[in-house]
Amino acid sequence: MPELPEVEALAAFLRENAVGKVVTRVDLAGIQTLKTFDPPLGSLAGLEVTGAGRAGKFLDLDVSGIHLVVHLARAGWLHWRAELPTAPPKPGKGPLAVRVHLDDGAGFDLTEQGTRKGLAVYVVRSPSSEVPGIARLGPDALEVDAESFTALMRGRKGQLKGALTDQTLLAGIGNAYSDEILHVAKLSPFKGADKLTDEEALRLYDAVRTTLTDALERQVGQQAAKLKGEKRANLRVHARTGLPCPVCGDTVREVSFADTSLQYCPTCQTGGKPLADRRMSKLLR
Ligand SMILES: [Zn+2]
Repeated sequence: MPELPEVEALAAFLRENAVGKVVTRVDLAGIQTLKTFDPPLGSLAGLEVTGAGRAGKFLDLDVSGIHLVVHLARAGWLHWRAELPTAPPKPGKGPLAVRVHLDDGAGFDLTEQGTRKGLAVYVVRSPSSEVPGIARLGPDALEVDAESFTALMRGRKGQLKGALTDQTLLAGIGNAYSDEILHVAKLSPFKGADKLTDEEALRLYDAVRTTLTDALERQVGQQAAKLKGEKRANLRVHARTGLPCPVCGDTVREVSFADTSLQYCPTCQTGGKPLADRRMSKLLR
């Protein structure tokens, strides 16, 4: 799933390549993707793209005051195309959900792989009040200061992994970067957020900033097509189960849940002790 650095890089790419151009047409191939009906998708046609930005993990394209807001979810992506086909796409076939044509023949496709459809597109005048997921966002992970961050974490019952990925608490961090941040901070994903000491809270705060800033620096300026590979190539523990930890050489381990998993290094994060894998312990019982 694209998180803060990837979405910010996509916004930067669109500021560079789409702002100043006029939308000529928008094709809707995945009907279930569009979550709003007023203003209609077609109202974007004829208007100039005036800005591109981000709210948490939402991408926001400002088209002369009408916003095309995109949540890429788990398997959604934006493909920039220098030359778009002019024939309308066939609805419901393949990964294409929405196609935006610009007046120089370029444009982009919003696509989603797989059968679990989560990609969401909103056409609204005020994203912060009309997109429920944006209205609920906590402060941005890169804008919050150390004091507020500590207060937010300590005010939350439950484990750090859940606290870091809760968008209503802190906006922009998902499954991959939360694993990376906890590894950098040398903290267990299962540690209680409300149990952080002053020193641990500060270490976690610094890890949030360095992890996201490093990823941003690598990704902003990259072509949209290269972002996913760039993210994958620089991960320390996330999606690296069974591989050596780049810091200490211990084997990266995994805890599986119903529809997701987390990765961590026992030596760096949990005093060498493997965490209980709930799925495994259920099977063995
Ligand atoms: Zn390690």
